[in-house]
Amino acid sequence: MSARGCSSLALFALLLLASCQSAPRGNELVLSSAAELLAAPQRTREYAARGTRTIVLRVEDRDDGASLAVAARAIRDANLRLGFWLEVARSPSLANAQPALLASLQGHEEWRTRIADAPEPGAEEVVKLWPWVPILTREGYDAQLERIAARLRTLPPADELWLHGLQGAPSACGCGHPLCRWAADYHLRDARHPTRIPSGTPHGPDAAARFVEAVRALAPDAELIPVWVAECAEDDALCHGVPCYEGRCWPALAEQWAPIVAGSERLAVFVPSRSVGLPLDAARVQRELASLATIERANAPRIAIDPKRLIAVVEEPLELSGAHMVAECELEQSWEPRVWQR
Ligand SMILES: [Zn+2]
Repeated sequence: MSARGCSSLALFALLLLASCQSAPRGNELVLSSAAELLAAPQRTREYAARGTRTIVLRVEDRDDGASLAVAARAIRDANLRLGFWLEVARSPSLANAQPALLASLQGHEEWRTRIADAPEPGAEEVVKLWPWVPILTREGYDAQLERIAARLRTLPPADELWLHGLQGAPSACGCGHPLCRWAADYHLRDARHPTRIPSGTPHGPDAAARFVEAVRALAPDAELIPVWVAECAEDDALCHGVPCYEGRCWPALAEQWAPIVAGSERLAVFVPSRSVGLPLDAARVQRELASLATIERANAPRIAIDPKRLIAVVEEPLELSGAHMVAECELEQSWEPRVWQR
């Protein structure tokens, strides 16, 4: 090789090294809002150059259709796969239109320790979790399916639809744990809770699986990926003394999760951190995935699946060995107690 050839080769190697250093390899899956993606027009191509293969766009009530369509076009133009993250349970628009469907807090009272000036309901009143409308009641299910169907009609066709919010609202049993999601109308029959003011008709433990199938029928060309929020852990102390972990929580979760596992090949597990004020590291993610991949509880369906079917969804970049999606945008998980009259 000539001296000139050698020096061009050296220059090429240097340039390659420089480009590797300036653009570290990104994750294959990225979750973004349309607003953040469109704020910097070159961002989509930067993701593609760094190895991203799919960009999933968040679709919450606050994300407007016109921006989503422009962002979707940019993703397609960069030859990337397009996904939408459809937020189901948490919907301010539906909550305001049909507040009767909001999940209720009629169970344990420990959630009050987390909230200053928590309202006290009267005899004919109930505390509800604005703006969470779970699909665990028949009425909530029907209203949410109608809302999601209407939203899908405004969106361009996607390769993947990630369905999030298939469980109950945060603090479902009243324990105050932001990841307690297994109930929608948990109630205790005791002196303090003599009556029940339901949000709707219980819709069965397979409501989430049926919802996934119903959305799949609306978009048969897209892959449907159910997103499950990691539940409480035995040692996280966020149940505030309520024995949910050893009580009804995990058996009920397994009853809802088993039909989801049977109906979809790829499943996502959202491990919230920033949005709920919990610390995150790789060990916690692995623990949450393992606890949903294998469930062995009395009075609950036994679950044993290949952990490779699970995709972790995290809110901050982490070194993880398995498939995972990093959320570059906020995933709102907040709620507030509101008194509702019967
Ligand atoms: Zn709980």
